[in-house]
Amino acid sequence: MGNGTDALELILAGLGIGAGDEVIVPTNTFVATAEAVVTAGARPRFVDVLPDTLLIDPDAVAAAVGPRTAAVLTVHLFGQMADMTALSAVTARHGLVLVEDAAQAHGARFAGRRAGSWGAAGAFSFYPGKNLGALGDGGAVVSDDPDLIDRIRRLADHGRSDTDRYVHELVGRNSRLDTLQAAVLSAKLEFLSEWSEARRRHAAYYDAAFRGVPEIRTPAIDEANESIYNQYTIRTDRRDALQAHLKAREIGTAIYYPIPLHLQQCFAYLGYKPGAFPESERAAKEVLSLPVYPELTEGQLGEVVEAVREFYGY
Ligand SMILES: *Cc1c(COP(=O)(O)O)cnc(C)c1O
Repeated sequence: MGNGTDALELILAGLGIGAGDEVIVPTNTFVATAEAVVTAGARPRFVDVLPDTLLIDPDAVAAAVGPRTAAVLTVHLFGQMADMTALSAVTARHGLVLVEDAAQAHGARFAGRRAGSWGAAGAFSFYPGKNLGALGDGGAVVSDDPDLIDRIRRLADHGRSDTDRYVHELVGRNSRLDTLQAAVLSAKLEFLSEWSEARRRHAAYYDAAFRGVPEIRTPAIDEANESIYNQYTIRTDRRDALQAHLKAREIGTAIYYPIPLHLQQCFAYLGYKPGAFPESERAAKEVLSLPVYPELTEGQLGEVVEAVREFYGY
């Protein structure tokens, strides 16, 4: 696919989800998750996340199911997978499709099974900032349903028939993965496990270093999970001041996400109000992602820890 957003949208389109349908999505995610629901013609129904992992809350999903609900689009945030056992049970009980936004979860596992292999289909992004990044945009869809894959493949290539490239069976678009990006990704794919291992080592380093700092909550990783740490995201009450302190020491950080989707201007028409999803709204004020990319040296990790400890006076 041309990018991860198209991958999400065309999964929904390929599943026949569109006008009149509702798709449940977490409000604590990148805008593309809900954007894809809208561009597929459906309506996002937001739900809150769990307070510790910041992943979609399966009980909230169950409570949000209504007569128009067609699918649950879960997000494997920061490299950690959502509770797929609980979500699979909810979607099976209500006859819904489960789709995975795995844009931040290349190779992550829940209960031993990889991201993208639990739902009807999974969407990946190869945007340069992802764990497997191209030199520009790229995306992929995975599924074990050959008919679905066939439909999505055609939607992404002008709705072409398999047998005659100038017979167009569907109105599609051009969302092909660029050949040069594919070459780069093939070369990088070999290193993905190694890079994920490095990210996990860096996360363990931070976890140990911040254990003695009560003002910091380190990432909560569910026992069933093998995270690939697309982000290492701490939580703290003095987030903005800490970010400024680190910036002054030339340490890059980021806030994912400063505004939950239900409070974004573009989704105002859905009618959500502040206070609707307290866990996501609280997280927006407290989260800070620290550098965790594979190439970090022990010296650099030490510098980050030192600067954080200095801020809190340890
Ligand atoms: C990056 C990302 C996307 C979109 O991927 P693009 O390739 O940038 O279109 C979708 N969902 C999540 C959670 C992402 O992080």
